[in-house]
Amino acid sequence: MAQEQDILKRPAPKRPPRLTSRRIGIHTSTAGGVQNAAERAYRLGCNTLQIFSSSPRRWAPYELGVPQCAEMNRLRAQYDLKPLVVHTNYLVNLASSNERFLQMSLEAFRGEVVRALSLCADYLVLHPGSFRGADREQGLLRTAAAIAASTQGLDLAKGGLTILIENTAGAEFSLGGSFEQVAEVLERLEGIVPVGACIDTCHTHVAGYDIVSEEGLHQTLQHLDATIGLNRVKVWHCNDAKAPRGSKLDRHQQIGKGMIGKGTFRHLLNDLRLAHAAFIAETPIDRPGDDRRNIDALKKLVVET
Ligand SMILES: [Zn+2]
Ligand SMILES: [Zn+2]
Repeated sequence: MAQEQDILKRPAPKRPPRLTSRRIGIHTSTAGGVQNAAERAYRLGCNTLQIFSSSPRRWAPYELGVPQCAEMNRLRAQYDLKPLVVHTNYLVNLASSNERFLQMSLEAFRGEVVRALSLCADYLVLHPGSFRGADREQGLLRTAAAIAASTQGLDLAKGGLTILIENTAGAEFSLGGSFEQVAEVLERLEGIVPVGACIDTCHTHVAGYDIVSEEGLHQTLQHLDATIGLNRVKVWHCNDAKAPRGSKLDRHQQIGKGMIGKGTFRHLLNDLRLAHAAFIAETPIDRPGDDRRNIDALKKLVVET
C-alpha cells in the first residue's frame, strides 16, 4: 500500500508548501534510497525530518553510498530541511545483561553513529533499553557506559551529532519511563559525548504524566525543566495516544484523535521555551494521506506572532 501511495510517484508540487516558524516534520520513508526521504519530507510540507538508517527490526544496516549521502545533503540544503533526526533500530539494547546481545547492540549502535555522521545528521535518537535480568539502576549505568564505549574514537562534536535519549512508556523492564531516568543517563555522559533528550508525548502520557489538563501540562513541563532541562530537549515526538494515562501501553494515534488532544500540541508548539526544538510526528498511516494530514494538523496549531 505504501508503495502505491508514494508521494514521489505523483507530480511534484507547483508551489512550495507553506511552512511555519517552527520546525515540524514526520518520520519519513527512505524507500528507494535515503535521499528520497528528503524529497518526500519536502513534498509533505515538512522543514525537518526523521528517518531510520537501518531496518527498524532487523540487524542488517542499509547500504549508505557516498553519492546518496551527498544527494541527501544537497536536497536538505535546497529545501532548508533541518534538523535531520535519525532514529536508532528498535533491537538495540545497550542495557542488556546478556553478553552476546550486548555485543550485537554495541556494534549495531556504533554503526548507527557512523551512518548518522556520514549523513551529517544532527541527532541520533535512542531508547535507553531494557534492564531485564538486572535492576533499573544497573540498567541506566550500563546504557551510559555502552554509549560511551561504542562511540570511542568517533568525533561526534566535530560531526555536529548529538545523541538524544528518548523517554519511554516505561512498561515492564524498559528504562526511561521517568524524566529522572533520562536525566541520569545524560548526567553520566555529560562531557563525554554530546547528549540531549527526545520527549515523546504519547510515552509521557501513558507513563503517567498529566499533559492533558492545563494545570497538569504546566506542572509536567516544570518537572521536565527541573530534571532534564527544557533546553536539553532537542526533539519532541508529537504523537497522540490511543491508551489512557498511566496505562504504559505505547500506541500512537493521529494528532487530535486520541487521549491527549490538540490542546497539548498547541501549547507545546507555541511555548517559547521550546521554540528551539524540532517537532516530529510518528503517527500511524491508517488511510493514504494521513502523514500529510498530521503535519498539517500540527502546522495549523502554530500561532505566528
Ligand atoms: Zn518516539
Ligand atoms: Zn512510541
